Amino acid sequence: MNLQFNDEEKMILGMVRAFMDEEVRPIAKALDDEKRVPIEQIRALQEQGLFGLLIPEEYGGANISASCYSAVIEEMSKVCAALAIVLSVHNSVGAYPILLFGSEEQKKTYLGRLAGDWIGAFCLTETQSGSDAAGLRTKAVLDGDAYLLDGTKMFVTNGTIADLFLVLARTSESPEAPHRGVTAFLVEKGTPGFRVSKTEDKMGLRASDTAEVVFEECRVRVGARLGREGEGFKVAMSALDNGRIGVASQALGIAEGAFDEAVKYARTRKQFGKAIAEFQAIQFMIADMDTQIEAARALIRHAAHLKDSGRPYGKEASMAKLYASTMSRDVCSKALQIHGGYGYVKEYPVERFYRDQRITEIYEGTSEMQRHVIAKYLLSGRA
Ligand SMILES: Cc1cc2nc3c(=O)[nH]c(=O)nc-3n(C[C@H](O)[C@H](O)[C@H](O)COP(=O)(O)OP(=O)(O)OC[C@H]3O[C@@H](n4cnc5c(N)ncnc54)[C@H](O)[C@@H]3O)c2cc1C
Repeated sequence: MNLQFNDEEKMILGMVRAFMDEEVRPIAKALDDEKRVPIEQIRALQEQGLFGLLIPEEYGGANISASCYSAVIEEMSKVCAALAIVLSVHNSVGAYPILLFGSEEQKKTYLGRLAGDWIGAFCLTETQSGSDAAGLRTKAVLDGDAYLLDGTKMFVTNGTIADLFLVLARTSESPEAPHRGVTAFLVEKGTPGFRVSKTEDKMGLRASDTAEVVFEECRVRVGARLGREGEGFKVAMSALDNGRIGVASQALGIAEGAFDEAVKYARTRKQFGKAIAEFQAIQFMIADMDTQIEAARALIRHAAHLKDSGRPYGKEASMAKLYASTMSRDVCSKALQIHGGYGYVKEYPVERFYRDQRITEIYEGTSEMQRHVIAKYLLSGRA
């Protein structure tokens, strides 16, 4: 798809490409092997303004279009999907909801920091509430001029490195419509009663931290509430609509990374006296892979374009995520197949792409939940 980026966006994309190639590609395998969060690289990206991509200029951000943002995540994921998710979570579900729902004071306090050297995280999931996000049990009870938060959040991306946590908690019981009792809060690292209790040992995205965080009588000012009481589910769902463009772009980038490796390998690997790229079976796989990649990119850019035009994009973001993540699994699998036995060993990057891809079908709403969202739009007549 032919996209028109402005000069600043082209410069950002060029800078990201060069940074990923020069600073991250050489260490991507080691980061994964060692389960190491690339904190130096994160700091370098912060200095270059990459953590304020969706934040308006008046608060110190770059305020790029959703289309360019999607291309940034795609470029990063071609090289290191773990670093891409640090940035994606920070921008899409960490900072962006503050822009949508924050008071002027919250915007002034936090957006500048998030465009600078702070990292954001998003805490929705709990042990008993994953897809059924409205079933969350973390409580927030009003106590004078503050709320007391109690509960445990699972699978928090950036959990050990974040400075600001967007936390969804229950402020009232409403058994008929549980989502109505949910409220959003901004909790700073170091707030008494907040702690990280463990980190997960994951199959993929090993260089991104995923933590369990605990709130025990964690006191947050009334002014730290994001939006109105009972508006938290709306905050979370708006954040996820935006986040899904990011995850779809991540899935796309991973597929492209695997595709590039497969083409390179097919051209050089010889069997039966010729490069395997000369066999029609391999050629057809390569043709299918690139067709699938292009189709996913068109869906993602369409959702991003709708967002940039100020039009509803929830259904299209879900479609893009559903298709791109499924496509990415298929493309990574074919890329691994083209590598034969060498695709199964860690010497080649394709096995990392294959492992990293899998989560794009799960987080920010599983593929089953994306179908649920899409069908709901279509059947309610909102599409
Ligand atoms: C690496 C990683 C990072 C994450 N980062 C974050 C984060 O930063 N913040 C955060 O809040 N969460 C995060 N998550 C959590 C993630 O969003 C959830 O894991 C996801 O939403 C699924 O929830 P669950 O794991 O509880 O699965 P479940 O909801 O228990 O689902 C299990 C299975 O049942 C299916 N299922 C459930 N309900 C239905 C239904 N109604 N119809 C059909 N099928 C259904 C699901 O699709 C899935 O296949 C992360 C998870 C991982 C693994």
